[in-house]
Amino acid sequence: AIAERIEAAVPVAEWPPEWFEVAANFRQPDKVLGSAWQSGAGLRAALRRGAEWLLDELQASGLRGRGGAGFPTALKWKYCRQTPGAHYVVCNADEGEPGTFKDRELLRHHADQLFEGMTLAALVTGARQGFLYLRGEYQWLLPQLEEALRRRRREGLVGRNICALADFHFDIDIVVGAGAYICGEESALLNSIEGVRPHPRNRPPYPVTCGLWGQPTVVNNVESFAAAALVAARGGAWFAEVGTEKSKGTKVLSVSGDCDRPGIYEVPLGITVAEVLDLCGAGDTLGVQVGGPSGTFVHPPEYGRRIAYEDLGTGGSFMVFGTGRDLIDIVHRFARFFAHESCGFCTPCRVGTQLQLRLLEKVRRGWATAGDIQELEQLRAILAASHCGLGHTAANPVQTTLARCPERYRKVLRDLEFSPGFDLDAALE
Ligand code: NAD
Ligand code: SF4
Repeated sequence: AIAERIEAAVPVAEWPPEWFEVAANFRQPDKVLGSAWQSGAGLRAALRRGAEWLLDELQASGLRGRGGAGFPTALKWKYCRQTPGAHYVVCNADEGEPGTFKDRELLRHHADQLFEGMTLAALVTGARQGFLYLRGEYQWLLPQLEEALRRRRREGLVGRNICALADFHFDIDIVVGAGAYICGEESALLNSIEGVRPHPRNRPPYPVTCGLWGQPTVVNNVESFAAAALVAARGGAWFAEVGTEKSKGTKVLSVSGDCDRPGIYEVPLGITVAEVLDLCGAGDTLGVQVGGPSGTFVHPPEYGRRIAYEDLGTGGSFMVFGTGRDLIDIVHRFARFFAHESCGFCTPCRVGTQLQLRLLEKVRRGWATAGDIQELEQLRAILAASHCGLGHTAANPVQTTLARCPERYRKVLRDLEFSPGFDLDAALE
């Protein structure tokens, strides 16, 4: 019933009370991702019925990767299971996308659910070792995460002889990152765990066939593992009751910016941007950045668009910008972020992100010419030649805002006659 109502795009004001329960249940400490969850229940069910049953349930659930890209979880686990080798399970908790902080809350309040999801991945793949790669800035969570692992070992839910089975051993180590955004890219993350410089690897091969130390590895986001634990406990059909045809279940969003009620929201996938704005109490807005700087800038005429993989996929970032904000300032900040976080490995990104930043600096100061705007447009092609996702998406903020709000760029456009001896480099410092 909920899925039908979402399809019909019912405005938030007309939502029945049970919908609000879904939207708000993140705030209830004993409920997340649409349901109360009991430690060990899903794991025992999966052990009774077997790995194939769990894969079928994941398939039926339609669960897709919650890190942002939406790769089907059942397929990922199955590919890894099919590849011979010493399997590993890795949780990507290097939540670094600006405006994203939902994994932090899942780690804080629902670590057991995450660890159980990782243990289920081990059951499917045969992995004996897992790693939780924790964002360096979340180091303060380490003691409580270690404590949760110790408790689960005592309860026989992780470690040796899980659930008293003679041949099921799987333990989890926590690796703390050192503050580089690029380590959130899965192959750079794997390099970081291996102790080598975290440059992104060529993909394919994907980690499912060639991951940690060249072995088949499942890498999933925190929310994906937590959702998988729920699928094991409640079944795939139950999970798929909420959402759209191609995007099942709920999504945890980090809502920030110019609204009355910023925070963590759990919403049914398929919800419109307008509905999220109503939930968080946004007033007049310039636009919303969905999916962080690498995502999409959505302006008011597009507020009917949906948070769903078939429309606006997101790792969870939902940044609201009021009408008092300056679009160029926003884009400039994003460009500065990419230029700072580029790992420097490949030239298109290392140079392209700096060029983009300098051009935007000119736009921001009212010094840009028509040629500069053209150059900004052309940078898209240069960045597309980059080695990894960071470079591929670094041009998104400029390109999406140029396409949607060209008048804002034109407003600052000015043909400059530079006098002889004018030092542009010095002026831009
Ligand atoms: P991707 O589409 O290349 O891959 C997504 C996942 O599917 C990966 O785990 C990959 O290994 C797997 N995969 C893809 N094709 C496969 C295949 N053919 N066989 C087996 N496995 C396959 O996306 P990506 O570059 O890993 O991630 C990009 C996403 O990350 C973007 O959506 C971006 O918004 C998001 N992101 C999130 C954060 C955050 O903090 N949550 C930060 C930065 C970026
Ligand atoms: Fe590093 Fe950027 Fe190249 Fe990715 S695209 S490898 S972040 S320089």
